[in-house]
Amino acid sequence: MQSSMFNVRVPLRDLAGSEDVFLMNTFTDAQLVVGPEVASLLDRLSESLAPQGRRALTPDERAAIETLSEHGFVVPDRTSERQRLEDFFHDVRHSEEQLRVTVLTTLQCNFACDYCIQGDHGDYNRTATKMSLESASRVAGWIESRLDETRASSFVLTLFGGEPLLNLPVAYYLAERLWAAAQARGVSMQINVITNGLLLTPEVVDRLAPCGLNGIKITLDGDRDTHNRMRPLRGGQGTFDKIISNIRRIAGRCRISIGGNFDESSVHSYPALLDFLAEQDFAPHLSRVAFKPVVRDVISRVSEGPAATAAGKTRFIGLTPVGEGKPLGGTCMTSAGAGATGGACDTCHFAADQMSFLRDETKKRGFNTSDGVHMGPCEIHRKHAHTIGPDGDIYACPGFTGDKKMATGHIDGSTDAFRSMAAQRFEQLAAWKECRDCAFIPVCAGGCTVASHSELGDMNVPSCHKRSFEAGVVSMARDAAASLVLAS
Ligand code: SF4
Ligand code: SF4
Repeated sequence: MQSSMFNVRVPLRDLAGSEDVFLMNTFTDAQLVVGPEVASLLDRLSESLAPQGRRALTPDERAAIETLSEHGFVVPDRTSERQRLEDFFHDVRHSEEQLRVTVLTTLQCNFACDYCIQGDHGDYNRTATKMSLESASRVAGWIESRLDETRASSFVLTLFGGEPLLNLPVAYYLAERLWAAAQARGVSMQINVITNGLLLTPEVVDRLAPCGLNGIKITLDGDRDTHNRMRPLRGGQGTFDKIISNIRRIAGRCRISIGGNFDESSVHSYPALLDFLAEQDFAPHLSRVAFKPVVRDVISRVSEGPAATAAGKTRFIGLTPVGEGKPLGGTCMTSAGAGATGGACDTCHFAADQMSFLRDETKKRGFNTSDGVHMGPCEIHRKHAHTIGPDGDIYACPGFTGDKKMATGHIDGSTDAFRSMAAQRFEQLAAWKECRDCAFIPVCAGGCTVASHSELGDMNVPSCHKRSFEAGVVSMARDAAASLVLAS
């Protein structure tokens, strides 16, 4: 019997002036506030505690251990706990309960975001791929086959791009055909849309609503001036006012979540954005507000030209470099590698202190946001989560779209040595095995694979942001302490 390797504890002395301790087990997700004597009992339950030592336990201590065992804070031994972890990842990988598919309806975009500056400005939209209705029909057929193969009880379709609303015929076609397919199979279906918000209208929402529209994620990169600098139109005009007006028009018709990408030049404008949002009549309709840092490896990839001048020597999240010098083949950096309402990932790339600061600021204004702990395992660890590019290539997650070498297959079933090798590499992915006894493995799984690939050059090594998880747990402990005070 010993203390679980997934226990995390936060003393409440500094947070709430109490001697109690907040305990969390990241494997079972159990959370408890316990007295210091229970915390020290856990300390005593080391591997070296011999049976005779256990006999010395008082009845109260035995009862406490029983409760702790029920919640996973105490486990029989490390070997069986590690086996349970292996089983957990196996189950996550092979679960057929839910089929998740992200479809990039187009790689075209009407914005010229600051952090996307390497790629598709200039003439890129003339060559960026857009899914045809014929391809959409094949994509739908492929998804229907997966529904039959997995017998999933739920299906989540995420429409993404580029800007997905630039290809509404395909968005509507997929939504309506797949809704009918899901209905015919008794499968529940949800649609998420990740959009820059410029073309978002009540008509779009009303057309998708009968097909299971779950939520729309819109990106605001800071307060009005900052957003307009970060996310202008291709002609340079600001987009903030139009997006806000569009949000107001659709408020109440579907779940709306706000995302944002900050860097050190914009992070301080987010409290002003939060104040602005909190004052809006649509504030109660925002189901989630969460921000992430955008990180670009400017030094190695933008060594000259306006981007280099604008960004200086700042380090940003590395865009996945793909053929013809385009980042992510035109996949929107708004969400690739981070951010969606239950669709494309919302988990990677955190800068611990700023994330924690913005989480607290967001919570202070009463918005629902990420707790910074329940982040994964992300969909790259799930066999039945796929991302499909406009040309039918299949990827393991949105962060790899556009890099054809990383395609794991094609909807027409064709394969080649590259795709087979990539599929095999993703199948065996387990960077978390390098994380030894880190308590956050069940909720982190070794971090973002795209970050490992693009920043560390090896997708089999962890991309670690442990401090961010630790800050998240401290935040949870503070909330738990506050709710205890309220309840007493
Ligand atoms: S690997 Fe990174 S980009 Fe891909 S789903 Fe996971 S967290 Fe998101
Ligand atoms: S990447 Fe870091 S935080 Fe995540 S499981 Fe590994 S060691 Fe822990």
